[in-house]
Amino acid sequence: MITTTNPADGTTIAEYARHDDGEVEARLARSWTRFTHDWRTRPLDDRTDLLERLADVLDDRTDELARLMTAEMGKPIRAARSEVEKCAWLCRHYAETAETYLAGRSIQTDAAKSYVRYDPMGPILAVMPWNFPLWQVFRFLVPNVVGGNTCLLRHASNVTGTALEIERMVAEAGGPDGLFTTLLCDHDTVESIIGDRRVRGVTLTGSDVAGRAVAAAAGRNLKPSVMELGGSDPFIVLDDADLDLAAQLAVDSRYLNSGQSCINAKRLIVAESRYEDFLDALVQRVKGLVVGDPTEESTDIGPLASEGHRDTVADQVHRTLVHRNGGEALVGATMIDGPGAFYAPTVIRDVNPEAPAASEEVFGPVSAVMSAADDDVAVALANATRFGLGAAIITGDDERGEAVAAQIDAGMVFVNQLVKSDPRLPFGGVKDSGYGRELSQEGAVAFLNTKLVWVD
Ligand code: NDP
Repeated sequence: MITTTNPADGTTIAEYARHDDGEVEARLARSWTRFTHDWRTRPLDDRTDLLERLADVLDDRTDELARLMTAEMGKPIRAARSEVEKCAWLCRHYAETAETYLAGRSIQTDAAKSYVRYDPMGPILAVMPWNFPLWQVFRFLVPNVVGGNTCLLRHASNVTGTALEIERMVAEAGGPDGLFTTLLCDHDTVESIIGDRRVRGVTLTGSDVAGRAVAAAAGRNLKPSVMELGGSDPFIVLDDADLDLAAQLAVDSRYLNSGQSCINAKRLIVAESRYEDFLDALVQRVKGLVVGDPTEESTDIGPLASEGHRDTVADQVHRTLVHRNGGEALVGATMIDGPGAFYAPTVIRDVNPEAPAASEEVFGPVSAVMSAADDDVAVALANATRFGLGAAIITGDDERGEAVAAQIDAGMVFVNQLVKSDPRLPFGGVKDSGYGRELSQEGAVAFLNTKLVWVD
C-alpha cells in the first residue's frame, strides 16, 4: 500500500493499493495502443482542443486541487492556487503556439525539397517529484500530448492523490483511455519500465541522486532522457543594486514553496559594501514571514513535505553551524515545536562555500548569505557549485548585469528578477542540475523525432 500523510499534522490522508506487475503491463499496453492506433495521427486541432478543455477543467477545479496539494505536501494554499492557474496558462500557451513550435523547417539543398518535420515517438515516462505536484507533471504532459506522444507518470508516492486526479482530469477533458496513465509502482520498477521496448523516452525532475539512477537506466537502454535536477542557485547583489528590491526578491525567491523549489535563490552573494545593509533588510523581512497552517490564506511558510525532509534540512543547518567558519545564524535555525514538519525560516550569514548550506542543495527555508569583494569574486562564488540551474543578478545597471550573466555557468540567468519558470521560456540546467530543456519550443520537441525528409 501507499499511504499519504498530511505533513502539517501527521495524519493519514489516504491509502492506495500499488499496481502489481500485471496492472503495470496492462497500463503500458493501453498507452502503446493509444499511441499506435490513434494519438500519433490525430490532427493537431484535436490535440490543441484537448488542451483548451483541460485548461477549463483546471479553472473549474482550482480550489479542490489546491486543497489536495496542500494536504499532501504542505504547500501554502495561496501558492497552491497559483500553481493550478499556472498549469491552465501552460495548456493555453501550447494550444496557441503548437502550430508554430511544431512547424518544422525547410532546408535549401540540391534536393527538389528537403525539410525537417517533428514526429511523435511513443509513450514517454515521467518520474516526478512532490514539490510542485501539478506543475511538474503538466510541464511534461502538455508538450508531449500536443506533440502526439502518450504519457506515463510515475509520481512521488506522497502525492499519489494528485497523480490520480491528473489522470481523471485528462479523461474529463476528453482525453481517451491510455493517453495519460498513472503508474502506482515502486520506484525500483522504473528501470524495467524504461527497458520496455514500447517506452521511447524518460524525463525526471528530482534530486541528482534519483537523476543519476534514471539517466543510467535510460543510457543502458539507449532511450533519450531529460533530467531536471536540483539547484543551489546564486542570487548576486551588486554594489549598485536597489537594496529594497534585492531583499524583497531574495525573500520571494528563497522562501517560495517553503524553500522547496529547485530554483529557489539558495546562496545570496552580496557586494561587501552593501552586505550589512542587505542583511538587515533581509532579516527584517524574514522575521515578518507567517509560518503556520498551510490552509490559512495568511500563511507564507507551511510545513516541509515530511518529517524526513524537515530532519534533512535541520541536519544540513546543524552541520553548517558546526563546520569550521561555517556561518552564523541570524534568525531561525530551529525546528518548530508541536505536530507537523515545520522548520523556522532561517538566515545564516558568512557561510563558508564549503559548508553544507552552500555546497549541498538545501530544500527548506534557509538563506546562505556570503559577501563578495567585487564582481569577479561574486562570479567565482556563484560558479563554485556542482549545480548550474538558475541565477539572479540584482544591479542598477542592466549592461553590467548582462556582462555578469554571460559568465555564470547556469541554464537560466535573470537580471533584476527572480528565477522563475514560464511556459514561453526554456527551462533547465547544466552540470549536476541535469540536461535537456522543458517548456517553450525546446520542450515541445524534446521527445519528438527530428525527422529529415529529402525529395529528389
Ligand atoms: P527524489 O529525487 O528522491 O524523488 C523524486 C522522484 O524520483 C520521486 O518520484 C521518487 O520516487 C523518484 N525516485 C527516487 N529515486 C529513484 C530511483 N532510484 N529510480 C527511480 N525513481 C526514483 O527526491 P526526495 O523526495 O527523496 O528528496 C530528496 C532531495 O532531493 C530533496 O531534499 C531535494 O534536495 C531534492 N529534490 C529536488 C527537487 C527539484 O525540483 N530539484 C524535487 C524533489 C527533491 P519516491 O517518491 O518513490 O522516492
